[in-house]
Amino acid sequence: MNKKLFVISGSSGVGKGTVLKGFLNKNPHFMLSISCTTRLPREGEVDGVNYFFLSKEEFQNCIDNDKFLEWAEFAGNRYGTKRKYIKQCLADGKDIILEIDTKGALQVKKQMPEAVLIFIAPPSLEALEKRLRGRQTEDEATIQKRLHEVKQELERAQNFDYKIVNDELERAVSELENVIIGEQKC
Ligand code: ADP
Ligand code: 5GP
Repeated sequence: MNKKLFVISGSSGVGKGTVLKGFLNKNPHFMLSISCTTRLPREGEVDGVNYFFLSKEEFQNCIDNDKFLEWAEFAGNRYGTKRKYIKQCLADGKDIILEIDTKGALQVKKQMPEAVLIFIAPPSLEALEKRLRGRQTEDEATIQKRLHEVKQELERAQNFDYKIVNDELERAVSELENVIIGEQKC
């Protein structure tokens, strides 16, 4: 059976990772796709677990050989999803979720119109900035680059299938669960 592909996007620091963690704890049969990136690992991040960390040359080589289902540049780094891996997971009937930026999400939708795009929105721009800073994983220049993306991300979100506001965490996790389980029944 071919499964639906779920794609989660949202501005940096909105809480995508946190909401997904809550969802995956309750729904452990779902798999999170592991992306490739040219960004350096954060403290505690492991190659092959959080990302496949590639050099710029390795990433370019994947682009040249058409290995990506989608890829995008975000705040100075490149991120991409390997096509073969996703197609294989879907063919095997696995429940798979992509957590990627809004540009990548729209590329996926173009190629796979049945993919379900879910945008995680902040309760306010102030809350978003507070969360991004509060995470303490980026320096000021990187935070500024990421905040600079927000306006365009919110515009692209208008083409998404669902929008979930991550105000209260448990509520947002339940809403994500309702959307995904509901879509699987369609
Ligand atoms: P993203 O994956 O979207 O970049 P994270 O999941 O890393 O964001 O979350 C960014 C920060 O916001 C983290 O410190 C996290 O604990 C916090 N956070 C996530 N969801 C909420 C929420 N609903 N309320 C308050 N803080 C939150
Ligand atoms: P971070 O550096 O915080 O891990 O991720 C930065 C941004 O890149 C986030 O919006 C995240 O969703 C996005 N991202 C992660 N993996 C991919 C991917 O494979 N493709 C695209 N287009 N974006 C990705």
